[in-house]
Amino acid sequence: MISFEEAVRIIVENTKPLGLEKVFLDNALGRVLAEDIYADRDNPPADNSGMDGFAVRYEDIKGATEENPAVLEIIAESKAGGELVKVKPKTAAYIYTGGLIPEGADTVVQKELTKVEDNKVFIFQELKKGSNIRPQGGDYKKGDLLIKAGKKLRPAEIGILSSVNKPTVYVYQQPRVGILTTGDEILDLGEPVEKLSQIRTSNTYSIYSQVLEAGGQPVIIGFSKDNPEDTQKKLSYAKSCDVLLTTGGVSVGEYDLIKDFVVKVLGVDILFWKVKQKPGKPVAFGVWGAEKEKLFFGIPGNPVAAMVVFENMVKPAIRKMRGESRIFNPSIKAKLSGGYKRKKGERLEFIRVSLELTDEGFVARPFGKQGSNILTGMVFANGFGMIEVGKTEVKDGEDIKVVVFDKSFMDGGLDD
Ligand code: AMP
Ligand code: MG
Repeated sequence: MISFEEAVRIIVENTKPLGLEKVFLDNALGRVLAEDIYADRDNPPADNSGMDGFAVRYEDIKGATEENPAVLEIIAESKAGGELVKVKPKTAAYIYTGGLIPEGADTVVQKELTKVEDNKVFIFQELKKGSNIRPQGGDYKKGDLLIKAGKKLRPAEIGILSSVNKPTVYVYQQPRVGILTTGDEILDLGEPVEKLSQIRTSNTYSIYSQVLEAGGQPVIIGFSKDNPEDTQKKLSYAKSCDVLLTTGGVSVGEYDLIKDFVVKVLGVDILFWKVKQKPGKPVAFGVWGAEKEKLFFGIPGNPVAAMVVFENMVKPAIRKMRGESRIFNPSIKAKLSGGYKRKKGERLEFIRVSLELTDEGFVARPFGKQGSNILTGMVFANGFGMIEVGKTEVKDGEDIKVVVFDKSFMDGGLDD
């Protein structure tokens, strides 16, 4: 059995970014840019005004005061999107924010410092030469590198792309992630309950949603019974996916067929099976496809184990495939409220905690029931507190590392 760290290393090492595709800007949010973006012109393209007021020559307002204002004849107007106009000595032009600085002018006096009478402007104070002028190229110059390939696109980057007239951009493809749910006992949504032993699926749709959050394209491949024929048939539907996720059937039971059948049906090379972690010990990982560019994750069926394995192992792989460089959930140090005890310390344990930011820093509160089948524990959680290998007790208030899988508590705590 390998360590958690070793397992993650194997996953990351065997995951390659996908190819590129072109998307329209209105579909580019959250995608990872695959080309460098350069400025197509200077911005601003010419000197323009940062204020509404008057464009003047500094010479003409030098020494102006309340008692002895400069008096200039208004001979032109410069508004945003207007023509380039001229001022001559002892004259001024109306100017509005974004208006081009007229030829001959070198200073803009804001409206608040002036008074207009009979087509003349009275200016009551001297300003520094160049005041209120936004210089050509002050933001960036033609040919400047504005955004480097590899950047995840946020609204600000999309604004830049638009301003340099890029209606489409190259980004990394998003992996198609197939989800196959296994188990004789599992019912899909809407299927009638006929036996007490039947279980309504949670994993299919929790994993579907996790794939979406991670930036992949989820595809529900179907549900398979724990027999060779059905397993073989349903696995063959996975061929068009970049990543195959199965849930259940990956443990050591008689009916746990997945590991053998992905090898037979899809030619998966299993790179590891079983990791020293809790929950999620029986997880399997492998690669397949012509160039072993596709991934396989055999995720245990217990609902919490499935979610934990996804956050720690599958999400980083999906993020790497879609070109991201920061692929792991962030981790923070937090004080464990109430402490935690366990009998054995052989495995790295992830306990479900709810995080709160207090005056003393982060506090992590474990949810009462920690079993890997207790899905309600996930509803109260936004982090996984890590109880390290070798450790059997964490004292009340002791610091532990917490993997934050849901950052929304920063918006003001979890709702009840
Ligand atoms: P397995 O990994 O197939 O041995 O399943 C372990 C436990 O998880 C069993 O109690 C299953 O009934 C349960 N389980 C498996 N798949 C699902 C699922 N899709 N939704 C909810 N529970 C499941
Ligand atoms: Mg099963």
